Amino acid sequence: ACGGVGVDRVPGLGHSGGGSTLLGYIGIDTIIEQMRKKTMKAGFDFNIMIVGHSGLGKSTLVNTLFKSQVSRWSSGWGSEHKIPKTVEIKAVSHVIEEGGVKMKLTVIDTPGFGDQINNENCWDPISKYINEQYEKFLKEEVNIARKKRIPDTRVHCCLYFISPTGHSLRQLDIEFMKHLSRVVNIIPVIAKSDTMTPDEKNEFKHRVRKELETHGIEYYPQNEFDDDMEDKNENDKIREAMPFAVVGSDKEFQVNGKRVLGRKTAWGVVEVENPNHCEFALLRDFLIRSHLQDLKEVTHNIHYETYRARRLNDNGGLHPISHHCMLWRTL
Ligand code: GDP
Ligand code: MG
Repeated sequence: ACGGVGVDRVPGLGHSGGGSTLLGYIGIDTIIEQMRKKTMKAGFDFNIMIVGHSGLGKSTLVNTLFKSQVSRWSSGWGSEHKIPKTVEIKAVSHVIEEGGVKMKLTVIDTPGFGDQINNENCWDPISKYINEQYEKFLKEEVNIARKKRIPDTRVHCCLYFISPTGHSLRQLDIEFMKHLSRVVNIIPVIAKSDTMTPDEKNEFKHRVRKELETHGIEYYPQNEFDDDMEDKNENDKIREAMPFAVVGSDKEFQVNGKRVLGRKTAWGVVEVENPNHCEFALLRDFLIRSHLQDLKEVTHNIHYETYRARRLNDNGGLHPISHHCMLWRTL
C-alpha cells in the first residue's frame, strides 16, 4: 500500500481557516487520473504458472481460466480438443481488454512430475524457468539503452496443485513447495475438488493448512508482507480460506437456460464458476480482482530483488555488457 506523503505544510500554502488554502486547489489528486491514463495506454503483463503431480487437471485448469470470465471475450480460443499430456513447459498468452485496459495474461503450464522412479530435484526445471525470467529482466535493466517498458515474463504466481486424497500432503509436495516458495509466490490449491464431499473438503483444507504451517512453507499472501492492519485483516480471511478447492473443465453445459462451464457427476453438473459449487471463482477473483497488483509488487520487490542482489554480488558488480550489444542497442 502507498505510504502517506511525509511533507510538512509548505509555508504560504497553509490553511487560512475554513479548510481552503491560500492558493486554492492545487490539483495533487489528479495524479491518480494521470496514472490511470498511463496504465491504460501501457497495459500490463500478468503471468501465472501451474505446477503439480501429473493428472491433477492442471492443463484443464489453464483452459478453464481462458474459457471462463477471465477471457470469454477474447477470440481465438474455443476449439474442443482433448488435452494431450504436457511434456514441456509451455506458455500460452492472451491479450484481454476490458474497460480500455489491456492485460497480457500468460499461463505457464508445466509437465506433471511424480511419474519417475527417482523424483529427486524434479523442481529443478521449474525453478530454472523462473530464474531465467528474472535473468532476462535483469539483463534488460542493466542495459545502457534500456527499453522504456521492459516486457515482464517473470512468474507472478505459481498455483501448486494438491491431490484431493483427503489424507495429507505427500513428501514430494512439501519439498517442492519449500523449494519454490523461496523464488516465487506459491498459491496452493486443491485439485479436482468435485471428488470430495463438502465435509471432506473442509477437513482436508484444514489439515493441509496445518501441515504447511508445520513445515514452515510460506505461501502467498505471506504474513510478513502485510502492510498494515487493514491488509492483515483482509489477508487473514484469505489465508483461512486457503487452499482454494477448485474444479476445472472446458466443457459447457446448459443450466437453467444458461451455458456454463461444468463437470457432469453422479449428483448432477458441478458448475465451475458457481461459488456454491467450488472455489474456482474465489481463486480467480483473488488473483485478478483483489491481489493482482500485490502479486506483481511482491514478485518485483521481494523475489526478483533477492535474485538480483545475489546475481550482482556473485558477479562483483553489474553484468558486463558486450560491445556488440551496446552498439546494436544504440543503432
Ligand atoms: P494434468 O496432467 O495435471 O495437466 O491433468 P489434465 O488437465 O491433463 O487432466 C487429467 C484428467 O483429469 C483428464 O481426464 C481431465 O478431464 C480430468 N480432470 C481435470 N480437471 C478435473 C476436475 O476438476 N475434476 C475431475 N473430476 N476431473 C478433472
Ligand atoms: Mg498437463
